[in-house]
This record gives sequence, C-alpha cells and structure tokens, in this order.
Amino acid sequence: MRSSRLFTNLISLGLVSGCQDLPEIGEHVWTGEHVEIWASDGLSACGGSFLEVDRHAARLKEQAKEVGVPTDDAQRFKYYWFDESERDIVDTVCDGYACFIRDSVYSPSMPDFHEITHASIPRIAASDTPFSIAEGVATVFGNFKLDSELRTISPVLPPLQNLLDSNRPSSDEYPAAAHFVRLLLGDDPRAGASALVASDKGARYSEIRKASLSAGLPFDEVAVRYSEFTLMDKNQPRHSISECDRTPEPWTSGRLEISGALACEAHDSLGPFRGRIWRVHTFEVTGEEEQLFRMTWDSLSGIRFSVERCQPSLSMHAYDGATTRLAFLGDGPSQGYRFLAPGRYWIYVETRSDSIGDPSYHFQASPVDF
Ligand SMILES: [Zn+2]
Repeated sequence: MRSSRLFTNLISLGLVSGCQDLPEIGEHVWTGEHVEIWASDGLSACGGSFLEVDRHAARLKEQAKEVGVPTDDAQRFKYYWFDESERDIVDTVCDGYACFIRDSVYSPSMPDFHEITHASIPRIAASDTPFSIAEGVATVFGNFKLDSELRTISPVLPPLQNLLDSNRPSSDEYPAAAHFVRLLLGDDPRAGASALVASDKGARYSEIRKASLSAGLPFDEVAVRYSEFTLMDKNQPRHSISECDRTPEPWTSGRLEISGALACEAHDSLGPFRGRIWRVHTFEVTGEEEQLFRMTWDSLSGIRFSVERCQPSLSMHAYDGATTRLAFLGDGPSQGYRFLAPGRYWIYVETRSDSIGDPSYHFQASPVDF
C-alpha cells in the first residue's frame, strides 16, 4: 500500500521515533462525525461497523458531558484498522493488541470499543489520566466478551493500592480497574468524574484518594466495597450503552419472536472483532412486577448467544458488581425459564467471522402463566 510503503521507507531512514509522525496505514475509507477510518487493503467490515464507531464516540461524549467531563467535539480521531500482516509497522508505536496514541487508534478489530473510548473521552480515558483509571474507563465501555461460563477472573482482586500505584497494570487487571471506576462513580457520578479529572497522569493511590475526598466522595468506603467483590465475569463492570441504545423489538400478541441471519454485510451486523461477528437485539419487559418467561432458541451450528440485562443509565446507581447475564444458549435448539423484571434487555448473537454461509437463528420469549 502506498502509505504503508512510505512509512516503511521513513522507518528505514530512521525518521520515525518519539513524538514524530505516527504511521498511516491503509487507505482512508470512511469519515463520520467523530472519526476518520483507514483500513488495510483487503479488510472488509460488517455493514454496521463504521457507523457504530461514530455512534459509540457520540454516546461516550454525551455521557461524559452529563457528568461534567470536558470533551472535544471539533476533533475527529483517526482509526487505523490494520491487517495483522502490518503488525510490525504498528509495533513501532503501539504496545499490545491495539492502542490509542495521540489522536489515533490502531486496532486489528472493528469496532474496537475499548480503543474508541480512549479516543473519544481522553480527559478521563487517556492522555493526562492515571494509567489504571484510563484502562478502567476504557474497559467499562469496551467490547462485550461472550463466554459460555461465568468464570472467576481472579479469586482475589488485586489490592486497590497496588492497582492504583501501578505504572502499568496488566490487561488481566483491567476488569478490576473498571470495577473500581464503576464504584467510584457509583453514588455520585458527577463527583466521581471530577475526582478522575482532578487526578493527573502521575496520580497514584494517595492522590486519587485525596482528589476523591475533595470531591466529597467516601473513598475509604469505596475501597472497602472494592475489596468485598470477587469478580466472576470480565463483563461485570462493563456498561452496555452500545447494546442498549437501540430500538426494542416489538411483542406480538404477548410473544416476542426474533429471527435473523448473521450476514456480515447486513446493515446492523458488527465486526470482525477478534475473529467474531455479531448482532444485537433489544427488547423490553413492561408491567409492574417481574414475570416468568419461557425462552426458546434454535440456531445453526456455530452461533452462540446470550441474554443480558440493561443497566438503567450511566448514573451507575445500579452497579452492584453482579452479572447482567440471564441466559446463555449455544448451538441447536434449547430453552430456559427466567424471571424478568420490568426493563430493557439485550440479546447478543455471535459467530465466527469465517463461518460458512450466513447462519440463521430464531429466538422466542413468552410469559408463563401459573
Ligand atoms: Zn486500553
């Protein structure tokens, strides 16, 4: 590719280092309100992916403004969606699977919500923020990771002081950092956000504690609550704003039926992210009390799916460290019974991006009368 070759030439001349120009990879393929997307030759995104990058950025900026975090709406960030064959170019500026550096995301996945978060609300997710906080915020708004089991990620969370004092928490510790961020924002998001904004890049446990206390937050209580949890699922501290901000599917004669196919080119299909493509459907349960529902599911081989509960809002009062998972159903026909409280839910349907054909699925839910 022209630009890649140009960069390779710059490297060979030793011109790229430190704060010099970042590599441009691939060709410019899309411009949204908040992002410019560049893609390596031969990569093909699912139908909804580029728009979802823009939508995620917009949602995050809106949420940030609500809690008083400054955002820059005039600036578009660059998203370099690179092919793994160009990993060596990215490795010159990026450490790990993907990264955000200055105004550019480098990721081999699309859409990469974690990196989009760094790029969209850098005031609390990048640049001047303590590393553990920035990774915690990016993980709160990162991609959903579907696991067939809810597994303990760590029998004991890393001690909070170790986590916040760390110059570079490991990616295994990101969910713990996200858990802390959710708890800090929990009771008073505006005060929590102001504590994060007040904690500059060099801030560690004692400074973050001080900034939190100055903002009126009971930091020591938050620290105790942090240590009381054992995270069972990496998604637990995650906030599903990307999934829940969708028009709910209609109920017909008291029954919800969702049928579809995971065709990457469909306008609402997303991916590929780490070799997976997915779709999301939302639905709402109305009424006053929780009800028992029978859910049935059938799909062609290779599809996995789960039903998750939406959290009410970023006000985060609802965060209790509990899983949002209601059901996980795999290949073939299966069914389950669940009590569903009034509110919004989302269904996540995923398959491998190299699946042959467009595997189809059918979901049905109906209340059970006693
Ligand atoms: Zn990150």
